[in-house]
Amino acid sequence: MIAKLVRLINRGDLPPRRAAGLLGRLPGYLFHRALGDGRSGRPFLITIELTYRCNLSCPYCYLAGLPPVEETVSEEEIDRLLADLPRPRPLVHLTGGEPFLRADLAAIVSRVRSRGCWTSVSTNGTLISSRAGDWLESGGPDRLTISLNGPEEIHDAVTSRPGAFAEAMAGIDRLGSWGMLNRVAVNCLLHPRNLPILSEFAVRLGRMGITRVSFQHPMGPQLRSRPGEGGIGPGSAMDPGRVNGALDSLRRVAGEKRIKVRFIPELTPGEIARWYSEGYSRPCRYPYFALRIDPRGRIYPCPGFPAPFGDIRLQALGGIWNGPAYRRFRRGLDTLPRPAACRNCCKI
Ligand code: SF4
Ligand code: SF4
Repeated sequence: MIAKLVRLINRGDLPPRRAAGLLGRLPGYLFHRALGDGRSGRPFLITIELTYRCNLSCPYCYLAGLPPVEETVSEEEIDRLLADLPRPRPLVHLTGGEPFLRADLAAIVSRVRSRGCWTSVSTNGTLISSRAGDWLESGGPDRLTISLNGPEEIHDAVTSRPGAFAEAMAGIDRLGSWGMLNRVAVNCLLHPRNLPILSEFAVRLGRMGITRVSFQHPMGPQLRSRPGEGGIGPGSAMDPGRVNGALDSLRRVAGEKRIKVRFIPELTPGEIARWYSEGYSRPCRYPYFALRIDPRGRIYPCPGFPAPFGDIRLQALGGIWNGPAYRRFRRGLDTLPRPAACRNCCKI
């Protein structure tokens, strides 16, 4: 947790005062950790999946094949959840699917921010229309992370959607014209198609004024997607040696050009070798400080576990967060063998 907060501050993602407030919760975490009772202090990160719909259909999408899910979590329910939490309130990450498909996104962001939560939104960037300018400029999120997997030819091929890159770039241009580029980050999923061009892509983004760029290793479900259909599973040329070589030259060029890049997760060359061969996991504290809420308002301990521990429409978070299911789950992280869901998880 401390390492994650320090990384957020170093990248300029989190104002130091807010980070200091969250660090003040550390004794609570350490106390329960020492007791081994599976309890935890209040969460400092809440990820809310506002929808599972998306206007793209990337072949490696971890949502691919899921049945439609009702979007019943409302602005009011999110507000109630946050209002019940003590200050300093947690960071809130709004994601999807594609959050800009929710007609009430502006209202949700505004409510979350008005509760004093540092707020980020992840998007594919294709729906940032001129109409979004008013709310984005006046009360938009603190961070807007746009998924871009390379220059035009590669991004369109990787997302299986001709025009996706141009649409996202038009969105970034609009954000620039609204003076918001300092709030924009780009996330690039590592893919066989983009490994050879990572450095030049990072340089290009830097020239556009985008100073926060992350490169994400494909997660477990993505590493099972079918290469023949554009996925990045076994046989898709995500060879560990090739990945390590590409990241070496990316780090070198980023250092020379003073571009800040980060990797999700941060892995050593040896860990990368295992990530792309037999699969890799390491001790995880995520469910001690973070949680996930799906579009129906159901609460999960992390992205890898499909069984909900509660529902924000029916219960207060306090009762769920340190309830029997959560406590059992956290204790199991320390005492039971790592489950398959933990292999190649980006939250480690
Ligand atoms: S943009 Fe994201 S949510 Fe949409 S299909 Fe692609 S990976 Fe899935
Ligand atoms: S799936 Fe496993 S590694 Fe990933 S956040 Fe959950 S407990 Fe941690």
